[in-house]
Amino acid sequence: LQTFPLTMPNGPISTKLFDLAKKYIPGGVNSPVRAFRNVGGDPFFVQRAKGCRIWDVDGREMIDFVGTWGPAILGHAPIPILEAINNAAKEGVSFGIPNPYEVKMAQTICEWVPSIQKVRMVSSGTEATMSAIRLARGFTGRHRLVKFDGCYHGHSDSLLVAAGSGALTHGHPDSAGVPPAFADLTSVLPFNDEAALEELFEKKGHEIAALIVEPYPANAGLILPKPGFLQKLRDITTKHGTVLIFDEVMTGFRLAKGGVQELEGITPDLTCLGKVIGGGMPVGAFGGRADIMDYLAPLGPVYQAGTLSGNPVAMAAGLAQLRELDKQKGYAYLEEIGQVMEDAVLDVLKKKGLNYRWYRKGSMFCLFFTEKEVHNLHDAKTSDLASFRKFFHHCLDNGVYFAPSQFETGFISMAHAKADMDRTAEVAAAALAAL
Ligand code: PLP
Repeated sequence: LQTFPLTMPNGPISTKLFDLAKKYIPGGVNSPVRAFRNVGGDPFFVQRAKGCRIWDVDGREMIDFVGTWGPAILGHAPIPILEAINNAAKEGVSFGIPNPYEVKMAQTICEWVPSIQKVRMVSSGTEATMSAIRLARGFTGRHRLVKFDGCYHGHSDSLLVAAGSGALTHGHPDSAGVPPAFADLTSVLPFNDEAALEELFEKKGHEIAALIVEPYPANAGLILPKPGFLQKLRDITTKHGTVLIFDEVMTGFRLAKGGVQELEGITPDLTCLGKVIGGGMPVGAFGGRADIMDYLAPLGPVYQAGTLSGNPVAMAAGLAQLRELDKQKGYAYLEEIGQVMEDAVLDVLKKKGLNYRWYRKGSMFCLFFTEKEVHNLHDAKTSDLASFRKFFHHCLDNGVYFAPSQFETGFISMAHAKADMDRTAEVAAAALAAL
């Protein structure tokens, strides 16, 4: 702002910035969820972020459980990442020619995630899933795609598809501008429903190129697979010659070195990554079986490319993040501090006599404002959204920032300490009491 002074009317600075932003940016935001439409009110604008805290342009300080929607696993602006970015940038910001950082990143990914024999870097999670699907279609020579209701895989045409009225009907576009012909090729199933899965594969298995799934769906709140469900996906796709794609953009490197596939002991054919591997820079990746990956240009017939793919500064940032996670025994700490939060939340719920559903895996969590167990999007939608909105705003007004929607996952970082969890529990307890 010092470099680019803005001319603004008087009033709280966030409000003024939002008014100005709405003049020049559709809806005032560069990604819709930031507009606070699900909770009402206007978004705040961030001045800076450090550790587990953010400060808005009006000087308010908040404990942050969004962590830039997942990437900030070490906390905001960690010194090792800042140094890595600085050192890499000094040598050049982008080359468009192979560089050593991207090789180190590919090697690290393949070592940490054993199902990935070869990997290609891209610049977002959307690019990763879009490219993995084209690759699966090119490899199998088939066109149909299967996804699950409530799983989000970015905003490419084939994936912005919602469930039709019956399990076997084709999906329908979930956004204007998605041609129905794309949606026709995408079948959408309820998560955790083995019967619907079997029925679909029985009828259409021979035409299904790929099944894509968030193994722990984290874009409808946080939903966990029923025992055996992921193995069922592995078995049925193997049986029908379908490529199994795990979208671990959210979970990859966040829950374990090898992601959900390590925790659950399932080996997908392809894996999509993003968020944590970029250390906050725009990075995605997709990789898996070498025989499938070798279908990519320049070796094979499936075209895929990117001007900024494998960008040296982004690779350096991501590598620094992964190195620190390993060095600081990150996953053990995140489980420990996650348990502290869980104990506090369950204690608060008990004291308030509330049976709301709480789900957590390591540093990912969701409190659904419903008493129903949540196994799929349909269950998640039984949540009391009016109460969630009140809870969200009470917490925000008292310095705790949760994601501005019931249908999002919360993220804990290595910068969250017990004192932050104690303060959060205090605020959350008051917020629930005020409902
Ligand atoms: N896949 C999953 C599981 C995601 O959560 C997201 C984003 O939230 C994406 C893909 C898309 O990633 P990006 O926003 O980097 O395009």
